[in-house]
Amino acid sequence: SIPLAYFGGIGAASKRGILVKGGNYLEALVNADRVIFDKTGTLTEGRFTVTKIRTENGSTEEELVYYGAYGEYYSNHPIAESIKKKYGKNIDKNAISAHEELSGFGIKAVVNDRQVLVGNEKLMVESGIDIDINEENGTSVHIAVDNEYRGCIEVEDNIKESSYNVVDGLKKKGIKEVIMLTGDNEKTAGRIAGKLKLDRYHAGLLPGDKLDILRKYLNKTTSTIAVGDGINDAPLLAGADVGFAMGALGSDAAVEAADIVLMTDEPFKIVESIGIARKTRTIVW
Ligand code: ADP
Ligand code: MG
Repeated sequence: SIPLAYFGGIGAASKRGILVKGGNYLEALVNADRVIFDKTGTLTEGRFTVTKIRTENGSTEEELVYYGAYGEYYSNHPIAESIKKKYGKNIDKNAISAHEELSGFGIKAVVNDRQVLVGNEKLMVESGIDIDINEENGTSVHIAVDNEYRGCIEVEDNIKESSYNVVDGLKKKGIKEVIMLTGDNEKTAGRIAGKLKLDRYHAGLLPGDKLDILRKYLNKTTSTIAVGDGINDAPLLAGADVGFAMGALGSDAAVEAADIVLMTDEPFKIVESIGIARKTRTIVW
């Protein structure tokens, strides 16, 4: 094969807030034909806000948000942060005697000696809690106390401005397929995929599923780019031919596992990175 070098590529990229950990990743970018994005915190801001609450089975709103905020107290998940911001002002930690984070599901806690579950539909179904409601526009955070369903807190996240032109930009650079992976529900994932004109998405994933899906796409002739921000995304970023991490709000684990770090967290920087790799490619004899 022709020996190639990427003279000035790493420097040109860093001036645009794109930190490339080695010249070989620029070569892999030139050969890329598929990009796999995480959703929350990558294509979306990852900053949720509470939009609505719905009580069930005679629960009061006060009670519902009390268990929501207490259940989430020890969680740093962006969904937990949004609930605590709105309802968690005066938490008495002594009321929480146990807490367990169930990655991809939610929280299991003991609050005032009552068993509290806070999380998605899967968590409720797996715990044998009867729920019969449909998700609305955002993500429903369901709450059960002592195995009885008490209602849900709806939260919503915004798509990043920089995500809207990503698919067009990538297609112009010769990328054939743009895919999104998420632990969030089918309906929210589908709505975002539609708005961003993604080719495909996989929803309702558990953290380990992301790497399994990536492996199905990897091949010997072209390279696959993965983009993420969370601790859960680290294996995905390490497993891809080129892993991009969000450098500003992303987790340390993602930044370490990545091959390229974006200082401004903008998905469109992937398009720019491919452009820089192409422009600085030089044949060396
Ligand atoms: P993503 O792939 O979207 O970054 P995660 O694996 O972090 O997602 O979470 C997947 C889903 O699990 C969330 O959309 C949410 O429904 C649920 N979940 C996870 N952690 C929590 C939590 N602390 N509180 C409520 N729901 C949670
Ligand atoms: Mg994420």
